[in-house]
This record gives sequence, structure tokens and C-alpha cells, in this order.
Amino acid sequence: MEDSYKHKGLRKQLVREVAEKGIYDRRVLDAINVIPRHFFFDPIFETHAYEDKAFPIEVGQTISQPFTVAFQSQLLKINKGDKILEIGTGSGYQACVLVELGARVYTIEYQKKLYQKAIRFLPKLGYQPHMYHGDGSKGMSKFAPYDGIIVTAGAPTVPNELIQQLKVGGRLVIPVGNNETQSMVLIEKITDNKIRKKQFENFSFVPLLGEKGWSDSKT
Ligand code: SAM
Repeated sequence: MEDSYKHKGLRKQLVREVAEKGIYDRRVLDAINVIPRHFFFDPIFETHAYEDKAFPIEVGQTISQPFTVAFQSQLLKINKGDKILEIGTGSGYQACVLVELGARVYTIEYQKKLYQKAIRFLPKLGYQPHMYHGDGSKGMSKFAPYDGIIVTAGAPTVPNELIQQLKVGGRLVIPVGNNETQSMVLIEKITDNKIRKKQFENFSFVPLLGEKGWSDSKT
């Protein structure tokens, strides 16, 4: 795996593109600038790594579009040392961004093959999030409460369990909608019984599966 001057140059260009689309958090832009996204691609598709696009990985899943990764990361407003749960490890790229932002990351993946790949691959890059295999649609109560929860697959509704597993002051970022388009929903937990909700339009994720997600006809 080589991270050449060419890769670094393409990454800088990607950072500029993402910033022009509205990402202003310097720490998020720096994380994108540092992580070699092409390492997450099969070498034959490497040229696509620095396009601002989602790209297919294995088992019909995708590595999210860099803008989307940055947008969700920015909404989380991570402070160093925050405990963050990611639902949908996928390639592991978003988890690395969260680690770069100083978070203690717990990430869960539904597809065993992707989980197995991530636990072997991320430590080789120097990233050590806590990685689990299973259905994260109800969160991971074992390690709750979290300062932030990020869902990287499209959900039909906001599962209550995720709000319960947030600390007061915590933030949940979750795409909600149908199988084609979703709104990005930000939920801030104001008190144990009060939340504030904001919505941002036009995202497109693979579906959240499992108990609180869409039904999975293949399992
Ligand atoms: N964060 C990922 C990345 O950086 O590559 C993007 C992942 S992809 C858009 C969404 C992931 O969510 C897929 O890998 C999918 O298998 C996973 N997923 C779907 N439903 C899930 C569930 N109930 N629990 C955990 N992971 C789930």
C-alpha cells in the first residue's frame, strides 16, 4: 500500500471540493486530508477513491461519499475523548475519521464478511476502534451511554433505543426515509425526556437492516 504524492494531491483536491460543498469544520477536513481513502479500495478501482462519490464494497454495501462522511461527522460535534457509537462499520473509513477526531469509537457491522475484513485491516492502518459484529439497529446498550451515535445506513424511523442510549447533551445523526432517499436527522438530547430535532435533505444510503431497520430477505 503506497500513499504517493499523487494520492496526497488528489486528497487535498477532495478536501477543497468537500469544503466548497459546505463543510467548515477544520478538524473534519484535516481527518479527510490525512486518511488514505484509496487503501479502502480494491487497487483496480483506486482511481475512484478521490472522487466525491459513494463506491460499492463487498456484499452489496458501499463506502459512503466523502461529503456525507464529513457532513455526519461535522453534525456530531465531537470533543476529544467522546464515546461514539457508529452503526454500520462497512469499510471502516468513517470509523477512522471518528478516531482522527479524537473519539473513543465503538462500531458495529451487520455483515460478517465486512466485520472480519475491518478487524484485520484497520489495525494495519494504525486505527483501533472497538469493532463488533451484529445488529446495531437497537444500538449497543452494553457500552451506553454515548456522547454521540452515528448511523451510516438508511433507517425507516428513529429507533427509540438509540435516543435512550445517548447521554444528556449527546447527539444522534441518522438518515431516515425510504429505500431511495433519506433526510439526515440530527437529534440532540436536551434532558432525559426532551429532544431537539433538525433535518437536512437529500441523502442516499444502503438500507439499515435488522430488528429496527428494513427486513432482510436474505437472512
Ligand atoms: N460507515 C461505512 C464506511 O465508512 O464505509 C459506510 C457503510 S455502508 C453505507 C452502511 C453499512 O451499514 C453497511 O456495511 C451495512 O452492512 C451496515 N448495516 C446495515 N444494517 C445494519 C445494522 N442493523 N447493524 C449494523 N450495521 C448495519
